[in-house]
Amino acid sequence: MSKSDIRNIYCIGRNYRLHALELGNEVPEEPLVFTKPSHAVVPMAGNVVELPGNVGEVHFELEIVLRIGRAYEPGIDTELCIDGMALGLDLTLRDVQSKLKAKGQPWLAAKGFKGSAPLGEWLAYPGAAALAENEFVLLRNGEEAQRGKASDMLFSVSELIKYVGENYGLGAGDILYTGTPAGVAALHEGDQLQALWAGTSVGSCSVTLV
Ligand code: ZN
Repeated sequence: MSKSDIRNIYCIGRNYRLHALELGNEVPEEPLVFTKPSHAVVPMAGNVVELPGNVGEVHFELEIVLRIGRAYEPGIDTELCIDGMALGLDLTLRDVQSKLKAKGQPWLAAKGFKGSAPLGEWLAYPGAAALAENEFVLLRNGEEAQRGKASDMLFSVSELIKYVGENYGLGAGDILYTGTPAGVAALHEGDQLQALWAGTSVGSCSVTLV
């Protein structure tokens, strides 16, 4: 799937208990959904990602990303909607986000800037059961920064597809960022990031702050 094939980008906030708590947020009672413009996507593919360098901290959030191949409709087996998965970064201007949250304003400026959604390579979706215990890891400059698995999500893949599909609509070409585990932190100039699944690297990039 190329960038131009991606339609809506839905993201889930606070879908891992320890991550919600590390930022001082309550654990949500229903999925917290936000979106990014499709212009946010950049392939990781070893690229240098340019990020805003003058608006405070830019945090990494590694997440499982699901690709929708078939539209959601009420009653459908949600597994049939998913036709691919990747690891992606939901990059976040954390200081900007804190100001927006304090004012009750939308998160777009913090979450939707160009380059805020680096995506690793697409893999075949193995099904929710196989995905559940499949650990994913983010290495920063060779050191482990984040580790998670889908079974730790507060809202399961199936619940997320159903919730987003019913409330906002899900069709072929949409993608869904499913939330980040604990360990988010600020990026520094020249950081090398590597996304791994079960020991296999499926995406890498470095960052430059401009
Ligand atoms: Zn996120």
